[in-house]
Amino acid sequence: MNAPTAFPDPKPVPPYKHTPLFPLGPDTTPYKKIATEGVRVEKVLGKDMLVVSREALRALSEAAFGDINHYLRPGHLKQLRAILDDKEASDNDKFVALDFLKNANIAAGGVLPMCQDTGTAIIMGKKGSRVLTDGDDEAALSEGARDAYLRRNLRYSQVAPLSMYEEKNTANNMPAQCEIYAEGDDAYKFMFMAKGGGSANKSFLFQATPSVLTKDRMLAFLKEKVLTLGTAACPPYHLAIVIGGTSAELCMKTVKLASARYLDALPTHGSADGNAFRDLEMEQEILKMTQSLGVGAQFGGKYFCHDVRVIRLPRHGASLPIGLGVSCSADRQVLGKITKDGVYLEELEHNPAQYLPAVEQALGGEVVKIDLNQPMKDILATLSKHPIKTRLSLTGTMIVARDSAHAKLRERLEKGEPLPGYFKNPPGD
Ligand code: SF4
Repeated sequence: MNAPTAFPDPKPVPPYKHTPLFPLGPDTTPYKKIATEGVRVEKVLGKDMLVVSREALRALSEAAFGDINHYLRPGHLKQLRAILDDKEASDNDKFVALDFLKNANIAAGGVLPMCQDTGTAIIMGKKGSRVLTDGDDEAALSEGARDAYLRRNLRYSQVAPLSMYEEKNTANNMPAQCEIYAEGDDAYKFMFMAKGGGSANKSFLFQATPSVLTKDRMLAFLKEKVLTLGTAACPPYHLAIVIGGTSAELCMKTVKLASARYLDALPTHGSADGNAFRDLEMEQEILKMTQSLGVGAQFGGKYFCHDVRVIRLPRHGASLPIGLGVSCSADRQVLGKITKDGVYLEELEHNPAQYLPAVEQALGGEVVKIDLNQPMKDILATLSKHPIKTRLSLTGTMIVARDSAHAKLRERLEKGEPLPGYFKNPPGD
């Protein structure tokens, strides 16, 4: 075996100071404790080690995929409600937003999920250096995801290739996409995501040239690309744009995390160390640009996007990867963590009824008074008796806003009304 070559006179270098590429600020997520079992602290080599059982991992993952198929983040629901209250929103924007709020209330009943495409199960873990498990964490986390899909009314979306052209549904939504990183100290942190096919299909990588790196050219480039996203992934979107990246795959991974607002606590300025940062000014600029496109929440209007994240990454001097992606109206992700105190999951909104308008007159339809202090089943019963411009059924197949929107589209076609020019894409999934 060849021994490594020794440099006769090594050039002195300064001590290495490591800068994380993604220096996130403090975690301000509201968590709920879901278990204390399966977690203990033991001394190993004089250090406190967090020992996590396989069952704690499995149970956390099952709870996560159950929750994200039925509950949304309060921030997302507030954004839907803000559309109803915005005088600049079009009737079409309001129609879609109201449908999504109704849909969120049906899903929160815990029987029907928020979308018929219940997504690919994606799990990201960050395991601290003083966390011990039995081994195969990926299997335990995947098993939890599988159990959620098997035990609840969640569609199985994964198809296994038997040969190049022959495929078979795996009948349990497996495999999950599970990635575990070594990061931190005495906690095990997670992000769980259920990514629908239509939404995933709107992820794009462009290998641009560094010549695009001026403000005018960049904005023109992005305007053209954002417009091609179309409406097949059920807007309003949480749009993520990443400019740069040490590799194409890091660029796209950052797009996915940014669309889930996982990188919101990044610094807002770059540094000579090459860390990632959020460009808040550009986020506002792109948001305004999306509002001016006229696409709106499917049929014309202001709300193509709820919000925009723009992340700038370091890059090879000869490359400029630019990534684009969305989180769709099934905005399904949740954070989790395991510490010495127990197993925690991000608190999602269990009472989306509070975001519904008290009087459904935003669309100029029939006025219906809804008492939000009554039980969820009574609210749903009231809603089902008073459809507005569309029929809302609580039995049979699941309703998503896109289905209602397509009904509206059919109505327009039947009346011979012209459709917006951008409406070219067939439904996503
Ligand atoms: S793109 Fe539309 S159909 Fe697909 S998961 Fe999202 S909301 Fe559901």
